Amino acid sequence: MENTAYATPRTVPCPICQMPVDTQNCQYVAQRDGRPYFFCAEGCRQAFLSQGCCAKRPKGWWGRYLERLGRANQQSFGAAGPKCH
Ligand SMILES: [Zn+2]
Repeated sequence: MENTAYATPRTVPCPICQMPVDTQNCQYVAQRDGRPYFFCAEGCRQAFLSQGCCAKRPKGWWGRYLERLGRANQQSFGAAGPKCH
């Protein structure tokens, strides 16, 4: 007797490009938060893995502050940035 209620569906959309992925024959799998993610290709898996949780985090005031600081430094010190000594 098979319990299919909680089984992974036979096909799931690729999280990156939404293409249906065959979970039974999928070679491109990644684990995140204790669940598997299935991808249509290695490129999509890499794209998923490179999106850390940090990349998705919205910029707070600190991020905006650092960005403004970076721009100000670029204006006064050039692209190389300030030197410590
Ligand atoms: Zn894909």
